[in-house]
Amino acid sequence: MPGIAPQSQISATPRTALPISILPGTSKVHPAQRYLTGMQIKMLYAILFIVVLALVFLPNLWVRRVMAKYQEPADLYPHDGAELARKLIDDLGLDVGLEQAQPDQDHYDPTSRTVRLSPNNYSGHSLTALTVAAHEVGHALQHAEGYRPLLLRTSLAKTAMVAEKFGAFALAAMPVVAALTRSPLSGVTMLIFGIGSIAIGTLVHLITLPVEWNASFERALPMLKSGDYLPAQHLPHAKKILSAAALTYVAGSLASLLSLYRWIAILRR
Ligand SMILES: [Zn+2]
Repeated sequence: MPGIAPQSQISATPRTALPISILPGTSKVHPAQRYLTGMQIKMLYAILFIVVLALVFLPNLWVRRVMAKYQEPADLYPHDGAELARKLIDDLGLDVGLEQAQPDQDHYDPTSRTVRLSPNNYSGHSLTALTVAAHEVGHALQHAEGYRPLLLRTSLAKTAMVAEKFGAFALAAMPVVAALTRSPLSGVTMLIFGIGSIAIGTLVHLITLPVEWNASFERALPMLKSGDYLPAQHLPHAKKILSAAALTYVAGSLASLLSLYRWIAILRR
């Protein structure tokens, strides 16, 4: 019966495994002490793993929560996100288009010089809608002023897209190539190509940090402040939305650095 066989296997495993793991070894360290230290090391790794996991994933949950919170009330202001974006673009004298994007796809496209806002922010009259609209116009202003980190990010992102495809192929093909050529060197070469492509991606993540910070706190916030688009007491809440969003980019960089570290660790073996 399928239900009986695995159970007997499970109960048999610890009985044989446990005494072996606490058998006195040749080392002078007391077995119990070694056992405890090993447990402590495992605990430390587990805690470290949870902390890193939290640092990578919590900012994304937090920004969703904050954005959802300030999407209400949906009729807080007389103008919606698109109207504010259009007004800011015109006041700054920028030659920039404005379109509605797919949900959660708010962005500025430097190639077509277009601000795109998700439906909620495009036609929403909420604090989230206005804050996100100002942030995306902030990128358009960076572009118009030739803000170097944005230009660098744009060109590097294009390189990263090509490199990532090639790198993923190189990493997947690595064992096959090594087996076919019977040379470990070709496998290592493929691995280095793969890691190189991940490194470019990590660089894009790191350059994104100052670009996003500048768009939020040096462009969007002063625009919202100076234009009297929101009452002064709403500004700290706008800052909270922008801070939550900024933290997701820090998390993205951290995740990218971790994946790079993982591959470099493989290479060093
Ligand atoms: Zn941005």
